[in-house]
Amino acid sequence: MVELKQLKAAQPELASAVDMQLALVEMQRRVQGRVPLPWIQADPEWVRTQQSAGRPLVRSADVPLEWSDFRLTFRQTADILHRFEALDRADYQQLVALGRDGNALEPLVKQWYERTSGVEAQDDARSRTAGDAPASLDQVLVLALRPFLARCAEALAQRTDFSAWTHGHCPFCGWEPDFAVITPTADRRLICGRCLGQWAFPALVCPFCSNDERSLITSFATRDGRYRVYACDVCRRYLKAYDGRHAARPVIVAVDSIATLPLDAAAMQRGYVG
Ligand SMILES: [Zn+2]
Ligand SMILES: [Zn+2]
Repeated sequence: MVELKQLKAAQPELASAVDMQLALVEMQRRVQGRVPLPWIQADPEWVRTQQSAGRPLVRSADVPLEWSDFRLTFRQTADILHRFEALDRADYQQLVALGRDGNALEPLVKQWYERTSGVEAQDDARSRTAGDAPASLDQVLVLALRPFLARCAEALAQRTDFSAWTHGHCPFCGWEPDFAVITPTADRRLICGRCLGQWAFPALVCPFCSNDERSLITSFATRDGRYRVYACDVCRRYLKAYDGRHAARPVIVAVDSIATLPLDAAAMQRGYVG
C-alpha cells in the first residue's frame, strides 16, 4: 500500500492505474483474510504423476470457495473495473446479473477453472472461452478467484517439492505467468497471473512456447536496471521481471506490475504482445 502510494507520487501519469490497483488489492486482502488455509490432499505419488504430465495440483474441489463470499468478491471486482473504466457498461451489467444468479455462477466458475487449469487428465485442449459470456468475464474471474487460489498455492508451497516442474505454466493452478523475478543468484522465478504462485524457470527460455534459442530471446532493461523484459522472437510474447539482484526490497507484484506499465508500451512498440 505504502509502495503504491509512493509510486503514484513519483509517477503521476500512473495515478489512475495505481488507484485501481489499490482498490483491488485492498478488497482482495480483506477476502483472503477470511479464507481458511485449505487442507489439500497431495499424495506424493499423485503429485509426481501430475507433475511429470505437466498438470497442476489444485483441483476445483480443493479451492475453499464459500459461494456467498465469492459472489460478493466477483461483484466488487466488476464494480472496481467498471469504476476505473476497465470494463464497459454493457459487459458490467451482464456480469452483475450473472453474479446475482448463484445457480448460474457456480457451475460456470467450476467449468471455467477446470478448462483453464488443465488439472484433469482429459483436459488436453485448454480453452478460456466460457460460452456466450463477455470476454471480460475472464479478467473478472482471474481477479475474483485470486484470494481463494492464493490460499491454495500458499498451502501447497509449504509442503510440496516443485523442483521437478519444468513447464512454463503454473504448477498450482495451470494459468500463465504474468510477471517474474530475478533472484540474487540470477535465477528466474515466474509468478502466476492467477494464484500468484511462483516457480523456477530458465531465464532464457520462453515460458509460452518453450523456445530456448538464445538468439531468439530479446531482453532489455529499464535505465535504472530495476526491471527487465524477456521477449520471444518466435511467438512474439513477452514477460516482465523485477531484477532482485541489486534491489533493496523483494518483488511486490501489485506494485511492480503497475510500475512497469511504461515497459509494456515499449515492448508493444517493438511488436511484442503481453
Ligand atoms: Zn497459478
Ligand atoms: Zn515464445
